[in-house]
Amino acid sequence: MDCRIKSGNDAGVSMPPPVFRFAPSPNGTLHLGHAYSALLNADLARACGGRLLLRIEDIDATRCRPEYEAAIYEDLSWLGIAFEPEVRRQSDHLALYRDAVERLAARGLVYPAFESRAEIARLVAAKEAVAPWPRDPDGAPLYPGIGKQLAPEQRARLIESGAPYALRLDMAAACAIAGDLSWHEVGHGPDGETGLVAARPDAWGDVVIARKETPTSYHLSVVIDDALQGITEVVRGADLFWSTSVHRLLQTLLGLPAPVYRHHPLLRDAEGRKLSKSTGATGLRELRAAGVTPEQIRSMVGLAPPA
Ligand code: GLU
Repeated sequence: MDCRIKSGNDAGVSMPPPVFRFAPSPNGTLHLGHAYSALLNADLARACGGRLLLRIEDIDATRCRPEYEAAIYEDLSWLGIAFEPEVRRQSDHLALYRDAVERLAARGLVYPAFESRAEIARLVAAKEAVAPWPRDPDGAPLYPGIGKQLAPEQRARLIESGAPYALRLDMAAACAIAGDLSWHEVGHGPDGETGLVAARPDAWGDVVIARKETPTSYHLSVVIDDALQGITEVVRGADLFWSTSVHRLLQTLLGLPAPVYRHHPLLRDAEGRKLSKSTGATGLRELRAAGVTPEQIRSMVGLAPPA
């Protein structure tokens, strides 16, 4: 298990220990892919003399449920992973995220966009009928709407009328302030990218950073929490590799430190599909009920027995 930093060194100078985290969303039960990510974080923390923290990413009130959160604690403890006490639950910190959105808005970097998801899909279809329309690294079309062009009075009137909206980052303005960005990758991206990787936040267009009913987004809370929890090593699935571009941008705009990133390959099912929460055959609860042991889970995800 290779460490980027070891706590302490030969000259006897004490270095703060690296800090790792596992950050599941309680919108379903854990599967083998989560087990791999959590065990890898735990192995690295142990090998590097580091700390291991748990964060519950539960900002999506429509999909997250307390019973899934309880199941996460139970499954992680069954796997034998011990996290430091003081689990951070994102829904406990909404005021903090709202404050960060306000700071970005005060610099003119955020605007409300009022199109619904269905309207956005219609706008994209109309654009694509004429010419190809750009897509983000996850394959979703970039925001095609007119939110950025609305006059302040129009925005105020729509907000006043109670219309729902998303707060989007003005990507061009944000990139102009932040300049060229990169991150240190000790794992690999989807095409083998490693080492110093150039961030490409503009590839995401004007990302949503908050919504009327939720004063944050995955991108915003993840950078704030990684900074507040003092995370130095982000170890997570390669599906989030290019999201790191947006994370580096937000870290720079908000004056937050950049951790080192290690993106790991995703586990796939027999058909080559990414594991999802609904895949019963790879669910940790199902495997446990079928008599599989935590040691067998380690070997199923390709990790050696603990030293
Ligand atoms: N909450 C995210 C997930 O469950 C992980 C976010 C991260 O590790 O940055 O996929």
